Amino acid sequence: MISTQQVAGQIDSHVTLLADADQFVHRQLLQPLAAMRRAARDAGFDLCVASGFRSFERQLHIWNAKAQGRRPVLDAAGRPLDIRELDDAGRVFAILRWSALPGASRHHWGSDIDVYDAAAMAPGYQLQLSLQETLPGGPFAPLHAWLDAFLARRAQPGFFRPYGIDRGGVAREPWHLSFAPLARQFQQALGLQQLSAVLEAADLALKPAVLANIEEIYQRFVHVPWEAYPAIDDD
Ligand SMILES: [Zn+2]
Repeated sequence: MISTQQVAGQIDSHVTLLADADQFVHRQLLQPLAAMRRAARDAGFDLCVASGFRSFERQLHIWNAKAQGRRPVLDAAGRPLDIRELDDAGRVFAILRWSALPGASRHHWGSDIDVYDAAAMAPGYQLQLSLQETLPGGPFAPLHAWLDAFLARRAQPGFFRPYGIDRGGVAREPWHLSFAPLARQFQQALGLQQLSAVLEAADLALKPAVLANIEEIYQRFVHVPWEAYPAIDDD
């Protein structure tokens, strides 16, 4: 049974340190992740985890920094946006395009990871995790072409891209992989009521605008449609 605190990243007893990445992931992700990395290595890639588990506190810090203008907010095309020109609800939706609400990040679960190909990085290259990097001509295009085929043929069952397409909520993030057998359980435990309660109690910037729009936020930015998950038989 997954508790609200666990699904909201306020408890981290389900995660463990990834030996070579300085990142934490769910204990039950270690084995499938290692298998996927071996397959990637056989194809000439060094599939690494840029970001695994993220705590509620960390996500809250990111959110508040963006809401208060201490950290840039990007528009749909990835260009910096002046959120002072927006009303509070506008600010909330602008931040949500690229940043999860604290309590509602899939990175709280340990089942989700952001990946890149360390073998494709020139010395001194600064990792961005941008769409550009994954498109033809970008350093990680070959890894993503390989991942397309790898995920499609269910070579390591259970992995999928929850943000592989833009559904009008979270921007397209091909580098974000999720392990369905775990993620499905966490998503089921994250209802609108649970999320609202967590946010009510948090020291959250723009809280009134968030709570006033919480149903739309939940549908567009939190709930990944179950059809996007691989079929249970394939997990
Ligand atoms: Zn991610």
